[in-house]
Amino acid sequence: ARQFFVGGNFKMNPNTRKQKEALVEVLNKAQLDSATEVVIAPPSIYLISLKEILRKDIQVAAQNCYFKESGAFTGEISPGQLVDAGIPYVILGHSERRTLFHETSEVVAQKTKAALAASLKVILCIGETLEQREGNQTAEVCQEQLKAVVGVLTEADWSKIVIAYEPVWAIGTGKVATSAQAQAAHADIRSYLSKAVSPAVASATRVIYGGSVTATNCSELATQSDVDGFLVGGASLKPEFVNIINAAK
Ligand code: 13P
Repeated sequence: ARQFFVGGNFKMNPNTRKQKEALVEVLNKAQLDSATEVVIAPPSIYLISLKEILRKDIQVAAQNCYFKESGAFTGEISPGQLVDAGIPYVILGHSERRTLFHETSEVVAQKTKAALAASLKVILCIGETLEQREGNQTAEVCQEQLKAVVGVLTEADWSKIVIAYEPVWAIGTGKVATSAQAQAAHADIRSYLSKAVSPAVASATRVIYGGSVTATNCSELATQSDVDGFLVGGASLKPEFVNIINAAK
């Protein structure tokens, strides 16, 4: 059985250290399902200080890293630097990185490879735009995005990867995928992994859903057999994040 996984992607929030501490306090006091793996991803400037005050059964993730180990890459952070800071996870390929910062699937694949080589675990984001969904290209787009990564990883690497299916039209829009839409996309991703990597990797890899997940819609999504958890944006900054963490209970 795959362990349920809930990630909180804070994106470029909160705005102050004080607000960051308030978010941590809510999580530290909460009663959390111990069967669920929980990871939160604050802005990199807060990674270390947040980790120091956060309860130890919640892990932290960076929201990005570069694929080089060190050198003249102004503004970037390397996988090795994250590992040295005690950070176990990194989110890669988020649609905001792909769209606003022009990351191609090839760059995402290079970053994934470098992160794993440094022994980071990776939350790998994929997903289609509204136009692509309306053109019935959802499965194809997800496969193309995964294909670049499949090409650079070994079968063993997949135990360190969580795939986040995040349809772009659902991110920050309040338009959550229906549980049937999420289930269908996740099943397609799994069947692609089965063919492109192996049946064992397909059945062991967590595929989590992201895009307008709230305390209200998480329970139904969590009942779907191929939905192994969530990557939560906006709602991870609110007390309702606790309910989402406990969605599989
Ligand atoms: P929202 O939950 O705000 O829609 O964001 C989802 C997301 O992008 C998580 O990575």
